[in-house]
This record gives sequence, C-alpha cells and structure tokens, in this order.
Amino acid sequence: MIQTIRTACAHDCPDQCSLLASVENGRVVKIQGDPEHPMTAGFACAKVNREHEWVHSPERVLTPLRRVGAKGEGRFEPIGWSQALDEIVVQWKAIFASDGPLGLLGYAYSAHQGQLNRGLLLGLFHALGATRLQAGTVCDSAAEAGWDAACGSVGGADPETVTESDLVIAWGADLLTTNVHMWPLVERARAGGAPFVVIEPRRSRTAERADWHLQVNVGTDAALALGIMHILVRDGLCDRGYLERETVGFSRLEREVLPRFDPARVARITGVSPADLERLAHMYGRARAPFIRLGEGMSRCVNGGQAVRAVALLPGVTGAYARVGGGALLMTATGFGLDPAFIRKPSGPARTRLVNHSRLGRALLELTDPPIRALFVAANNPAVTCPDSATARRGLARKDLFTVVHDPFLSDTARYADIVLPAATYLESDDLVRSYGTYYMQFVRQVVPPQGEAWSNARLAQELGRRLGLADPIFSMDTDGLLRELFRGARSPAAEMDVKDLRAGGAVKLAPEPGHQRFATPSGTNVPRPSAFPSASSPRPAISRRTPRGRAWPPFVAAPASPSACSIPRMRRPADCEMARRSSSKAGTAQSGSGSA
Ligand code: SF4
Repeated sequence: MIQTIRTACAHDCPDQCSLLASVENGRVVKIQGDPEHPMTAGFACAKVNREHEWVHSPERVLTPLRRVGAKGEGRFEPIGWSQALDEIVVQWKAIFASDGPLGLLGYAYSAHQGQLNRGLLLGLFHALGATRLQAGTVCDSAAEAGWDAACGSVGGADPETVTESDLVIAWGADLLTTNVHMWPLVERARAGGAPFVVIEPRRSRTAERADWHLQVNVGTDAALALGIMHILVRDGLCDRGYLERETVGFSRLEREVLPRFDPARVARITGVSPADLERLAHMYGRARAPFIRLGEGMSRCVNGGQAVRAVALLPGVTGAYARVGGGALLMTATGFGLDPAFIRKPSGPARTRLVNHSRLGRALLELTDPPIRALFVAANNPAVTCPDSATARRGLARKDLFTVVHDPFLSDTARYADIVLPAATYLESDDLVRSYGTYYMQFVRQVVPPQGEAWSNARLAQELGRRLGLADPIFSMDTDGLLRELFRGARSPAAEMDVKDLRAGGAVKLAPEPGHQRFATPSGTNVPRPSAFPSASSPRPAISRRTPRGRAWPPFVAAPASPSACSIPRMRRPADCEMARRSSSKAGTAQSGSGSA
C-alpha cells in the first residue's frame, strides 16, 4: 500500500516547499509539491521531483569508510560506526592535547537547512572551542550586510503580497531558476496589470519573459539605484513625509551624493541609456506599490554589499515600504524571530578563530599557531564549491590533515577524507525548517528510515558530543525537546508554538503585517502574526562604505529617526559604523569572531 506523508524540503533554497512523499514498502516512490501550501502550490522543482532516485541511489555511502588509497584517489574500506567514532575521538583528543581545540576546523554549511541537523553540529564546534567557519562569505554575507545597513536585521516584504503590486522588479534575481515558486505570484500581478521588469546583466530565463529587460553592466547596480534616486528627487517623486518619519540621513545623501548621479553619468557607468533610466525612474516613482525582489548576484562584486544597500533604500525614498504590495525582499529568515543560540552556542568561548569560507584553501595551507590539523565537513562539498578550488584541494590533500566528511555520497571532498561517514538525507530524519524566501515554517517529517547505516547530522553531533564529554543538554535531548527550546527563545509568536501541533500539521505562516515594513521597532507593528494552515491530518560582508566612484556615503538608513524606537542594537548605531567594521574584518583568511552562521 502506498502511504502519503507530508514533509518539507530542506535544501538550501528560498522556496522551502511543502512536499508529499509517496512511500511503498519502505521506499520513496514519488515526491510532489503540496497543493495545500500557498507558495508550493502543488509543484516541486525538477530536481526534487526525482528525489526518490537520489534517496535510493546505488551510489549512496551506506557504511562508514576508512581511506586506504591516497587522498583524492577515492579508495576506501568499510568499517563499523564504533570503530570510526573511536578513531575520530582519539585523533581529535590528541590534537586538543597538543595544539588546543583550535587545531580542529568545524565546517558544516547549508546543504541541510534543518534547524537541528545544521544547528547541532555548529553547537558541537562551539562547545569544543574549535576553529569555526565564517560561513556564507561565498554566498550571502555581503548581501545581508547591505540589507542590514539599509533596514536592519529584519525580514523583507512577504512574497505573497506581490500580487497586490502594480510594478514588479526582479533586480538581479533569476526567479525561474532560483525562486521558481514566486513566479506564479508574479504572473498574477502581471495579469492584474503590473509590468514586470528585470534588471540584470544576463539574458536569463526570467529576463526573456520580462516585459522589459534592462541589461545593466556588471557591478554597477548601486549607480543605477542612485541614478533613479537622482531623478526621483529632481522630479518631485519622493515621499517626503515617509522620508521624514521613517528614515534618517536622506538629506545628506540628497545633498552630497545624488547630484553626482545625473542620467548622463549613470548611463556611462551602467550602460543603461539616459532615456531608459528616465523611464525606469518614472515607472518606479509613479507606481503605487512597486515590489523589488532582490537577488544576491549583485553583491558578489567589489562594493556588492553597497549595491544591495542602495537598491533596498529605494522603497524608502518613495514610501513603497508602507504600501501593501510594495517594498523589497531580500530574505525573510530573521522575520521568524527564532533564536538558535541554545542549539548553536550551548557553551564554549563566545569568540574564537574564524576561517573565512571563501579562503578555505589558504586557511588549510597557511594558518599557524596552531595550524588546522583536523577538519570536519558536513552538508557541503568545498572541493568544488569554494572559490579557488584548486587551492582548497591542495589544502585537503595535506597528508597531515585528519579529515572527516559526513555526506550521503562520496563527494569530491569526501574523496580526500580519512574517514567518511554516511549521512542521512532530509527525508530520513525529523527536523524543522524555516524559509528564507517566504514566511512559512514547517516540521520536516521523516519519510523513510536512514538508508544502510546512515546517521543524521543531528545524531552524529550528539554522539560525538557525548563521547567527547560535553555535558550540554543539547547533546542528549530529543527532537521535541530541542524544538521546544528553540521556540522558547523566540522573540515573536513562534515563542507560543506547540511542537505537537507543528508535528501534526503542515506549514505555519509567521508573516509581518502587509504594508507595514518596519525596521526593528519595538512597537510590535512588525511582529509576525501566526496563521496555521492547513490543519493537516492528511497526508550578512566584504563591503566598504564607498559609492561606485569612490567617495564615502553619508549614513542613510530606512529606520525610525529616534534611536529609542529600535529594538535591534545594531540599528541604534549609524549604518556606516557597522559597515566599516565588517568591511575590515571580512577580508582576511582568518580572524577572531563569535561564530559561523
Ligand atoms: S524549489 Fe526549492 S524548496 Fe522547492 S522542492 Fe525545489 S529545492 Fe526544494
């Protein structure tokens, strides 16, 4: 008999779909999108539609393995779990005794988005006082810093409100490739008359379907945003009341920066003609509720964080942040108000040595005092995905580096490991996911038992914690207990979430009130409101405070003018102070810091 089980996708993807898995005789035979989830809307992406083949692939690693060939060669022999764990613990303890815990680099990244399967490994490294990964510099650190500089650590507009928009802009966001479940909502907005504009250098699949594609030069998005602001000011299209009430610093930006971004100059920088720039600025300034979906690509250039910052300021200039259907969306994750510190930082030093994710290879080859002598990798494949992968591979090939990789497959990185441990996929253990592109949170239900002798990341972290003598409760708590603690620390209605309800139901929405984008105010007006559905019984940067032409920006933040109206400490300070500090700290291979994301 085929059983249908509702679960959630835990891949690193903003959509975080709700899924229906069909299981027959202990095997997943089909995966489909959940029709009851408003964003998933009954379809999963092409990758996950075939995930049953992935779970039951003959290429899965099914037992622990010990390397018998050269590093990178890929020759291993099977060993038992207790043998593998004994060996890891003996090696790590010897390194801790001679070099201290900084001799171990704990590297767990984002391939599993589960709060427990990712969080417990981070908690293990934190409690050990190991060298930690400054995670995300390969991905979203600069973009997040740019957003935070403009708006603070808050979620952006609810993507479901885009249907109320009268102008939709995908700015550096290839929705059809990376955020496919937003596409039907954009189409609904278009059916209601909203033009759809794509701003990006590539002729992407999304750009091909746009009403208007502006091919901006790579790395010039900030200049384009400032050029739009120049015209908004010149032609009286700013919302002066909103600027006065909800922002600080605009008068200086208007006086000192915008005059330099006239259409002729912006055209030379961006490749967008003056006529197109005028048209775009007028479309934006005259729209009632323009919605900007921000992508992260623009942040992966010099001053990329500043590009995100400049674009995120635009809805503040026209007051679109205060209109249903308007505003901007980079990410939603912080909007859930969850505080994972209980799991991710159970004990151990608040600050430790950090390795810049983008410079893994150099860290493995060059760090001293102590050198990295042991490496643990989970939920990532740095031999392929880290920049300068040739250097990363040289580092991984070091004969004196004791490497453990926990992965469902013998990845390129695993081929360099001394010990490979079989990892369970997200379909093989319980967890919780909260989206970073929508406002839904959902229990990830185990669909089938772990294949072979695979263990989840969470189980492995707990077992290693126990064997290494860590007394923190997280290493012995069950799933429900851990989730209860996660909710207890929340600064949002998630604090009242009942784990039993979450287990029994589908996704829960915790969205801010539409049309009331707030910037970390304590008033509660931006506090997410929960609305559960269905009651299912069924189944942050390498940025500097510079404009595109090299002069420093004055602070301009979309925030209450009164510091006392802010609830998040970093928003109490001028944005430029934050950015200057981050800029200097992200550039190197390693630094001291508080931990990985
Ligand atoms: S679109 Fe994203 S969240 Fe949805 S099934 Fe595919 S990978 Fe998972």
